[in-house]
Amino acid sequence: MIRIVWLLALLVQVLSFIPARAQSFDFQQDSIFFRKLADDVLSSPAAYESLRVLCKTIGPRLAGSPGMYKSEAWAEKALQTAGADKVWKQAVQVPHWDRGGKDEAWYQYTDASGKKVKVVLDVLALGNSMGTGKNGLLKKAVLIHDFEELEKRKDELKDVIVIFNNVFNPRNLSVGQSYGESGAYRRSGPSRAAKYGAAAVLIRSVTASANDNHPHTGALAYDTAYPKIPAAAMGLKDADQLIAQLKAGKAVQVYYKSMAHFKPDATGHNIIGEFTGSEFPDKFITVGGHLDSWDPAEGAHDDGTGCVQSIEVIRAFKAMGYKPRHTIRVVLFANEENGLRGGSQYAKEAKTKNEQHVFALESDAGGFTPRSFGFTLEAAKLERIRQWVPLFVPYGVYQFANGGGGADIGPLNRSLGTPVAGLSPDGSRYFDLHHARNDVFEAVNKRELDLGALNMALLIYMIDKYGL
Ligand SMILES: [Zn+2]
Repeated sequence: MIRIVWLLALLVQVLSFIPARAQSFDFQQDSIFFRKLADDVLSSPAAYESLRVLCKTIGPRLAGSPGMYKSEAWAEKALQTAGADKVWKQAVQVPHWDRGGKDEAWYQYTDASGKKVKVVLDVLALGNSMGTGKNGLLKKAVLIHDFEELEKRKDELKDVIVIFNNVFNPRNLSVGQSYGESGAYRRSGPSRAAKYGAAAVLIRSVTASANDNHPHTGALAYDTAYPKIPAAAMGLKDADQLIAQLKAGKAVQVYYKSMAHFKPDATGHNIIGEFTGSEFPDKFITVGGHLDSWDPAEGAHDDGTGCVQSIEVIRAFKAMGYKPRHTIRVVLFANEENGLRGGSQYAKEAKTKNEQHVFALESDAGGFTPRSFGFTLEAAKLERIRQWVPLFVPYGVYQFANGGGGADIGPLNRSLGTPVAGLSPDGSRYFDLHHARNDVFEAVNKRELDLGALNMALLIYMIDKYGL
């Protein structure tokens, strides 16, 4: 008897040295599957061609605009062509902000010889911004570098146009961090200036781009405690010249005109394609991007690439004859850019229907070379799946980072606790074209796009097979 107890104790001790569940991974079989999937995705024209059609035949597709309806029809067809078992539309009321035509701006000052100089600015009204009315505004310009200076000079801001010199910080290793810091002036700068009586705001575009003068739009968020003043972004070359005059102490007047306004809310849709699970048809793995894009561009990298990469997951699995255990849901979300209503509606209905969501993945950081995935997941679970990383390295992903996800799947994580992740491609060039007119199909490289789609499919395969 003692001998048996001793043997059992020894067995328990030996087993405890084997990492929990590690023996359940079959990396040899997985690496063979990875190779086959790579062969298929990297040699398929499907994702790139689908992106071309979206960008070149539809183009801009802001919530409520005619492009939104056309892009919804494109998405349904693309999901059917990819082989989805079921394609359906989830209705959601979306805001309909309209630029109302071309935004206009210029500035004037008196030069050393006493001559008046007038310089035209390339500007774009910020999304969700109010317009100025048809006469526009001509006001004294006041240069403000940051919110600290804004507070110090609050008594000088009555009835002026505040020029925010929010420089995109090149020293951050994460461009997303620079976007967050500089983007704060786009989102909350207008209301912070309105608090002290400013009439309008112009910001440097939230970009590091030095090669062109395209303004970069993007949503602002008014604080309803203050007047909703008009706001726009300037191209960087124009911004630098205007700011140089202000730094030199010149008295500068700025004219700005925008006819931006809101129309009544419209009915938009999340477009959803499903590949029904063989073992757990009622447990969902979501993979998606957002279907809407800003009005001046084709929305190629933001977020046409995320849409076609997500669709590619279904197409490739079908082409391989792979049958997922869980239901794979490709979701092309509505209204990420100026409302996030699509992502919110998806989470709301998931909660109401008591759906079980295993995992959600988003691609919304550009269709560039994949580098890593960022996860919002329990630490122990992230540690466990980090054993998979060596399988991904040959295909470009070298890290499973702690922290990440996506705007559209954020509500799912917050309301249901669903683990989420985001594809993190190389971000070096993303903010050169983000929300600007140069975000076009030609700026997307086929292989980079496909490598992103491939890694997304590989991650979905592993999570579908082994769980989290
Ligand atoms: Zn986006």
